Formats: sequence, C-alpha cells, structure tokens
Amino acid sequence: MAIHIETPALASRAFSLSSGKDVRLKLEALQPSGSFKARGIGHACQIYKSRGARRFVSSSGGNAGYAVAYAGRMLATPVTVVVPATTSERAKNLIRSEGADVIVHGESWMEANAKALELMTPEDAFLHPFDDPLLWDGHATMIDELAGQGGRPDLVICSVGGGGLLCGVVEGLRRNGWGGVPVIAAETAGADSYAQALREGAPVLLPQISSIATSLGARQVCGRAFELAQEHPIESVVVSDAAALAACEDVLLEHRILVEPACGASVAALRSDSALLREARSVMVILCGGVGVTAGQLAQWSAQFAAAAR
Ligand SMILES: *Cc1c(COP(=O)(O)O)cnc(C)c1O
Repeated sequence: MAIHIETPALASRAFSLSSGKDVRLKLEALQPSGSFKARGIGHACQIYKSRGARRFVSSSGGNAGYAVAYAGRMLATPVTVVVPATTSERAKNLIRSEGADVIVHGESWMEANAKALELMTPEDAFLHPFDDPLLWDGHATMIDELAGQGGRPDLVICSVGGGGLLCGVVEGLRRNGWGGVPVIAAETAGADSYAQALREGAPVLLPQISSIATSLGARQVCGRAFELAQEHPIESVVVSDAAALAACEDVLLEHRILVEPACGASVAALRSDSALLREARSVMVILCGGVGVTAGQLAQWSAQFAAAAR
C-alpha cells in the first residue's frame, strides 16, 4: 500500500492559452500531506519500517516534517519532529494533528537538526527532507503515472529546493524510457542555490535565504541534483518572488487551488525566456503544492508587493 495517492494531470486551459503551449498540471497539491513529499517520504518510511525502524525522526517544520508525521500515522509508527522556535504555531499544530510529537529546540534549523540527530537511537530512522535515494525513488512515481495520463510531455517543469524533487523527476523520466525529456529547474531569487551551483561548477552554500518561497530555502543543493545537470538536459530558471506570488494568485483564480510560492515558481517559469520552453509544445508542470500558506497570507504578501512596487 502506498502512502501517497495517484494525482490527476489536469489540462490547464488557462495556462495553455496564456503560454501558447499545451500545459498540464500534475496536481501534487492534492496529496493528503498537501505536497509531493508524501511520495518520497512515504516510500522511505515504508522501507525504513520494513528494516525494523520503530520511530521516525525529522527536523523539518515544513512540508517534509508534515509528510513524515502523515506517513507515521499511516504506518502506525511514532514520529518525533524537532523544530526551531521560529516555526509557526500553525505548522506545529498541523504536525501534531497527525499524532506526531513536536519538540521545539534552538533558534534555527541547524540547532533543531542537531538535537534531532542527538535523539536518535538504533531503533529510529531519520528522514532527510531531500538528500536520500529512497526519497527520489518515491518521488519518481509521479512520472510513472504520466504514462497513463496522456503520455510523454516535451518538457517537465519542477521547483528546486534541496533538489530531491528534481532527482525524482529525472529518475522517473529515465525509468519510463523518457530520458530525452528535458527539465526546467525553477527557483526564486534569494533561494537560488541550484542556479548558483551550476554557475560556480559545484554546490555552493548560500549565506542566507531571502525569498518568501521558504520551502525552496535549502542553502545548498544535494550533490546528486548537481551531478544530474551533467547527465540530463536541465535548464535552471530563476523567477522573482513577485512572479512566483502572481503565479500562486493565478493558480488560485484559474484552478481554485492554493499553493506556496515554492510551487508558484514552477508556474511562473511558463512565462520565462527559456530556450527549452521555446522548443516545447506540451509542458508538464509539477504543481508541487505546500501547506505553508493560507489565503490570508497570500493576500497579505500581494498587498506588500503592490505597496513596494508603487
Ligand atoms: C520540498 C518542497 C520543494 C522543494 O523540493 P526539494 O526536493 O527540496 O528540491 C518545493 N515545493 C514544495 C511545496 C516543497 O514542499
């Protein structure tokens, strides 16, 4: 039994008209945990449990931690999530709503993560948010599903935080015989650790994250995501926070689905001046979702950006 659900690949009339492409949206926002992370983390949790894990431990107060909590409930396995003091009440309550224990420790993720590692016993499994081949294997199932959902796209667009989603998308393309299908790796300025790694020729550590797309806020991408750029046609596209936010508004207006700016970045890439996009006719956008946003927060950001633009 899989922890994730199969999601629709919705033909988007609105985005097809605005981009001049045949656009489909892979609705990962509909996963029970609100993001694609249910796939990889659900798969990894299942494997760790089959290997004897009695508890799952995470240090993510975001979609990864929430997915671990969800997978734990599905697998009847206790979950402990250690988060820093900066984590919102809403995020902590969401994780607790799945029955997980939330421990608040430290001022930043680094301290929370150190604490989580300290808590680990030999019977625990630690769930990394992006750098684990089991995660990529699970994420790849979203591409497996496309075979029966209109087939091979000319291009896939996905967002990049730490690069786990990108690794999973490429793995999925390859294992379905679509190794030639290129991928646009979308990020926001201020969380563009992938674009900078490609420019520098090695994964770089960003000094800080300055983007509202906090789910893209891994300061350094995983090594595998970086290597893949040498093996697969991948183009990095960086959009502004304002563009990602406008894309979230568009998704809400056109499809009545609320997504994080981390996901809006991929939709915004449809408006970018990308060489891969120019050549493609059919485009699959991974609508990766995210629970870290409310309609009120989206409206508040939009008002702030509008005021700043005046
Ligand atoms: C985790 C996440 C990302 C980034 O995924 P990575 O595997 O870290 O690259 C993008 N969007 C959302 C909504 C996420 O939860």
